[in-house]
This record gives sequence, structure tokens and C-alpha cells, in this order.
Amino acid sequence: MPDHRKLGRELGLFDSDPLIGAGLPYWLPDGALVRHTLEEYIRDAERRAGYQHVYSPVLGKRELYEISGHWDHYRDDMFPPMRLGAEQVVLRPSLCPHHALIYRSRSHSYRELPLRMAELGGMYRSELSGVLGGLTRVRAIHLNDAHIFCTLEQVAEEAAAALELIRRAYDALGIRAARYRLSLPGSGGKYVAAPRMWQRAAALLVDVLDRCGVVYESVEGEAAFYGPKIDVQVADSAGREATLSTVQVDFHQPDRFDLHYIGGDGDRHRPVMVHRSIIGSVERAVAHLVELHGGAFPAWLAPTQLVVLPVSDAEAEQARALVRGCHERGLRAEVAGPERGSLGARIRAARLVPYQAVIGAKEAAAEEVALRLRDGRRLDSLPAADVLARIGELVGARSTDLWQV
Ligand SMILES: [Zn+2]
Repeated sequence: MPDHRKLGRELGLFDSDPLIGAGLPYWLPDGALVRHTLEEYIRDAERRAGYQHVYSPVLGKRELYEISGHWDHYRDDMFPPMRLGAEQVVLRPSLCPHHALIYRSRSHSYRELPLRMAELGGMYRSELSGVLGGLTRVRAIHLNDAHIFCTLEQVAEEAAAALELIRRAYDALGIRAARYRLSLPGSGGKYVAAPRMWQRAAALLVDVLDRCGVVYESVEGEAAFYGPKIDVQVADSAGREATLSTVQVDFHQPDRFDLHYIGGDGDRHRPVMVHRSIIGSVERAVAHLVELHGGAFPAWLAPTQLVVLPVSDAEAEQARALVRGCHERGLRAEVAGPERGSLGARIRAARLVPYQAVIGAKEAAAEEVALRLRDGRRLDSLPAADVLARIGELVGARSTDLWQV
């Protein structure tokens, strides 16, 4: 696998500037297109799965993280507080405390549970500059996050549903999990002390993994400070593993924020929080996708999905019309005309684009195109309208197939 940093620069996806700072990459138009498409996929999948989306600010008062426990257990990874008059505000190290407060701001009946709250939001980590680079070690992270507030009885089903969302996303993205890890606490003061809570949460996750028939390994010392988690691991270009997706069970923060719902008995009960991320941060997900596919993204994710190659200037008008047809269907397309070199050179330059539509004199006269697929297949000339309809269908279905015969 290639290195995503090198490829990302070559493909014009993202870059960084010492004046912005290490670990603070910016996204170029093609990278932003990939990221947008990925984010839209995630939001759409979440809406279909009954999640509601919220927005919350990337800052909060220091006190908020004292209550959540981040200040005690996670401070080394946080940016130092900023003084603002008599207050101290902190760049948030996670979204959970904000979501707990949003939940707490309204009263909830058991009938509203499970309440699934999602946000693709920013958070910050004070990584040391020595280890920064590309999109995998960053100080500004945009996390595909969600918190499910539910009853104890609902935890297993919600966690299993989250694993299913992860499985489907990996199918659409062509990602393979290297392994599933059950991350348990280790020794030392990194974890909140509540042995019964840890046992109960870990037992629930084991139940979910067994129920889903997933093979996993238990590893101590990899849990979040507030609870155990299922980590879905992927391997990078050097074979190093990283966590992409997680499902976590948390009894701690609902306690700390005194969350409750009104049960069928009219009494107040404590909900459980299930934290889950389908693709993790968009930074790590895109870095992994760049390396995995060598820049040849699945068609639905590719920054340019179709490149139109008129053989000569005589076909320029038909080429422009085909691009307009693509845009009307929501497909991303562009013309690469003879001014960019010989047909062979233009085909080589577009080797990562899923579809290359060649239009010569014969095709122009018949309103057809000679389609070449990125995998080397060359199809007989087909009516241009049919080609766009079939590509539109595959892209709309977020298929990893380029063509179906
Ligand atoms: Zn969380």
C-alpha cells in the first residue's frame, strides 16, 4: 500500500502549511469532495437508522470536562485551557459531554428511548509535534460520533445495530476489518474506579460480539477511561493497526451528568450511554481509503467519476453535452480535450477516474460513447444516455462494482 501522505499530495486531496501548524491539515477541492461524499453517506445511513443529528460547539468550560471526568483522566491529551475573563474554556477532547447536556436539557419518557443523537463534529487533541503528519495523527479531528441514550435492556440490540452499520459502511467503502478487539481497562489511574460497572459493561459487549458471531480478541489497557469498547481495527500501509470504528458502553457519564428518563412506573431511571462511531474520524477514514485504494476510490466516492475524452476538437460539443448530462444526474464529470495531449496520454492521466468516455467521429454522429473502465475493461460503443443511466444507478447504490453486465 502507498503512503497516504505522499498520495494525498500528488492527487491534490489535502496538504498542510507550517503557518497553520503541524497536525492541522487543510482539504483541497478534490479531497473536500471525497470528504463531503463520505459525510453525506454517513448522515444518510444514520437518518435511515433512526438517528437525529445535532450540532454543538467545539469549546466548553473547563468545569464541563471536570464533571465528565476528562479533566482527571484525559488532561494530558487536551489543549491547555484559554482564559476568558474569570472563566476558562477548553477545546473539547470529545463530543460526549455536549451530547449528555443536550439530552439533559429536556425531560425524556421511556417511550422516547432509545434516543440516538449523532453529530459529525470537531474535537481537539494536543498530539506532540514529533508524531504528526498527514491525516492520521492530527490535532483537529472531525469525528463521526453518536450517543445512544437507552435502557439497560436496549444496550445489546443498539450495539449490535451499530456493528451492522459498520459492516455495511465497510462494504460500500471496500474496507476490510483487520480484527475486532474488545478493549478492557488496564492497571493504573487512567480509568474511573467502579469495578462492578466495568464488569457489567464488558459482559454486555461480549454478549453483543457473540450474538453477532464476530471473532475478537480481548486486550487490556485499551478501554476509554469511562468504559470498555469494541474496536474495529484496520491495518495501514506499514501493516500497523489503527482503530477506525468503535462501540462503547458507558455507565459513568450518565451518572456524572445525572441523566434520567421517566419510566413506565413514573419514577426516574438512569439511562445507559452507548457511544459509537461508524467510520471514526473523517481524517483517519480518508487516509485509510487513500492507501487502501491507491487513490482509485469506489466510483460513488471518486472526486471525478467520469472523464470525457473527445478524440479531436470536432467532438468538443458532444463532449460538453455529455458532461452537462452527468451534472444533471448529480455525477461528477469533466472534459479532457485534445489540448491536454494525445488520447493515450489523456487516458493515462485519468487512470484513477472510474469511467472514461471516448467520443470519436463515429460515436458523435450516433450519440454514443466508447466507455473504458478503470479496471481495464473496454466496452463496445453504447448510447450515451444508457451509459449515464447505468453509471448513475451504480453510483446511487454506492456500489463498489464499476459495471454490471
Ligand atoms: Zn462519546
